[in-house]
Amino acid sequence: MRERGSWRGRGPVLTAVVIAALLALGARAGAQAAGRPGGSAEPALRWYKGNTHTHTLNSDGDSSPDEVARWYREHGYHFLVLSDHNFLTSTEGLNALFGADERFLILPGEEVTDRVDGKPLHVNGLAVRHLVQPQGGATIADALQRNVDAIRAASGVPHLNHPNFGWAVSAADILRVKNDRLFEVFNGHPMVNNAGGGGMPGLEEMWDIILTSGKLLYGLATDDAHHFKRPGDPAASGPGRGWVMVRAPRLSPRAILEALEAGDFYATTGVELRDVQRSAARVSVEIAATTYSRYTTRFVGRDGRVLAESSANPAVYDIKGDEGYVRAVVLESNGAKAWVQPVMLGAQPPKR
Ligand SMILES: [Zn+2]
Ligand SMILES: [Zn+2]
Repeated sequence: MRERGSWRGRGPVLTAVVIAALLALGARAGAQAAGRPGGSAEPALRWYKGNTHTHTLNSDGDSSPDEVARWYREHGYHFLVLSDHNFLTSTEGLNALFGADERFLILPGEEVTDRVDGKPLHVNGLAVRHLVQPQGGATIADALQRNVDAIRAASGVPHLNHPNFGWAVSAADILRVKNDRLFEVFNGHPMVNNAGGGGMPGLEEMWDIILTSGKLLYGLATDDAHHFKRPGDPAASGPGRGWVMVRAPRLSPRAILEALEAGDFYATTGVELRDVQRSAARVSVEIAATTYSRYTTRFVGRDGRVLAESSANPAVYDIKGDEGYVRAVVLESNGAKAWVQPVMLGAQPPKR
């Protein structure tokens, strides 16, 4: 090797530097391999089911943190974020009770709950290290940014919640926010107006406006569960209606949060996927089909245009390169949905 001569005689310091560099290279190669199923010697990737938005008696939920953790543990989830309004619940004792290696993990969190011009602004802070106070701001976008920044400063991962709750947050507001990657494209609370209407865009339409403008944002489905003691009450916000399936090498806070911010997850209200492959060349979605359902997979690009519709399984879309972005949504014949995260393509000349 050409560099060998220069190593000689520089003693243990240089050797240590070289070893550290080689180790770092190895770690990076390992992480890259982990992102590609089928690569060699990487930890196998698994799907973990989780809910990132949940309330307890520590704010306006109707059940104690242990009852809430138990519900999710007993209903097949792998992870749960407790996100009370402006309250950070300690998860140490809960994890001692309910946590189990590779089976269940409770992450700390908070719903930073702010208000500007009478409009409710809620931003979840996943795994914040300390309580984040609502930051306020001169405008909706300013307050969103200040709350996102405060969550990042507390080493947390921000997600923008239910934009249409109180018709508070527009796509234009979200477009002005930086350093955020996640928003709720579905929230299970019955008063958050996911579908839009009356001249206001629904959350998928908002997502397409944001993606069309070139901002990469990933869509979450969450419960925003408040009520565990009112099963069957349509006015209640119960658990089990929207969740994420995260593909990660292990069930740890870091692995889960990194996969979320990298878009290696899908959001769902009941459709289960066996596999998702996203690259600049192709998006492919394999559905874990039930015997009683039929499925349509829709591939969506710039301006929310439907690029293709498929009833095949797997559903595959070969990217041409001028779509702006490509995302997929799977529609199940009883109304359930799964949202696959967008692939952003290079800057394209605008169509109009
Ligand atoms: Zn909220
Ligand atoms: Zn909430």
